[in-house]
Amino acid sequence: MSRVYNFSAGPAVLPEEVLREAADEMMDYRGTGMSVMEMSHRSKPFEQIITEAEQDLRDLMGIPDNYKVLFLQGGASQQFAMIPMNLMKNRVADYIVTGQWAKKAAKEAEKYGKVNRIASSEDKTFSYIPDCSDLPVSEDADYVYICENNTIYGTKFKKLPDTKGKTLVADVSSCFLSEPVDVEKYGVIYGGVQKNIGPAGVVIVIIREDLITEDVLPGTPTMLTYKTHADAKSLYNTPPAYGIYICGKVFKWLKAQGGLAVMKERNEKKAKLLYDFLDQSSLFKGTVVPEDRSLMNVPFVTGDADLDAKFVKEAAEAGLVNLKGHRSVGGMRASIYNAMPYEGVEALVAFMKKFEEENR
Ligand SMILES: *Cc1c(COP(=O)(O)O)cnc(C)c1O
Repeated sequence: MSRVYNFSAGPAVLPEEVLREAADEMMDYRGTGMSVMEMSHRSKPFEQIITEAEQDLRDLMGIPDNYKVLFLQGGASQQFAMIPMNLMKNRVADYIVTGQWAKKAAKEAEKYGKVNRIASSEDKTFSYIPDCSDLPVSEDADYVYICENNTIYGTKFKKLPDTKGKTLVADVSSCFLSEPVDVEKYGVIYGGVQKNIGPAGVVIVIIREDLITEDVLPGTPTMLTYKTHADAKSLYNTPPAYGIYICGKVFKWLKAQGGLAVMKERNEKKAKLLYDFLDQSSLFKGTVVPEDRSLMNVPFVTGDADLDAKFVKEAAEAGLVNLKGHRSVGGMRASIYNAMPYEGVEALVAFMKKFEEENR
């Protein structure tokens, strides 16, 4: 068996301990004689899996009792519609557009109401986070929406916007559990788990109870109503059971590492190694303004598309895979999520040094 250092933006690297445990339990989950994939979602063992997963996530993030945790399907993209359908009571929402994902979310919300784009960084290809300290928040806005970590462009909100009392909704897909969060600052926190938590197919929604109502937009499907899933504890229909089981293992792994404060320290150390190298390199250059740099996704370029392609190819041959940048940006991108070990970033930087010397 040989494992590579996988810098994919998602689906992405998972902790080896978790994969090994899942492999050990594949044929016979704890004496049940079957895999978790094969068992009823109404069975005792699965009830324990989902209950523990929720509790461990609550412990990790310090989620207050007046917030529900929902394990849903449809990916982060389904939330682009589910959020306005459930939250747009006045049919008005404010969006801060810091990348493709926020842009898509805003466009989808326009199907349901008036969308005000109150800030954007599109003028400089989303290479920074706009100043959000005094935004023209709409008087009747039902919520203010952000994408907290921009997976494609490698920017992160280091400070949350001042929403002037309006509910904050955040897509945290690519920074989920990468550092401690103050859940009470948000009305909704959601993310697809395939970036930093688990296998594709699960989206986690953490939502304040007062936002869960029957008063949704006319025509909202039962399955797209938060209340349906909140009332049924995410078991209204068959949930993505195996994915939830793996997420649960990752939560336990994170607790064993020491929790989110420890992860933040580690993530800062990993990111610093790479950014420090980029800042002194004569060949490679980071594409994001230093103060808004993501700890999770690090885009960089040589300035020469042919050389970029050569780098991606030779890195893959050296066991450093999935370093090609997003198709909309080009260049390279290293995603260094929780499960990427420090040694993986060290190996990447060593390879970049060598490539720089060979390609002067
Ligand atoms: C990947 C990603 C999405 C889309 O996720 P899907 O689960 O594929 O719908 C949305 N937002 C962010 C920030 C992402 O990184």
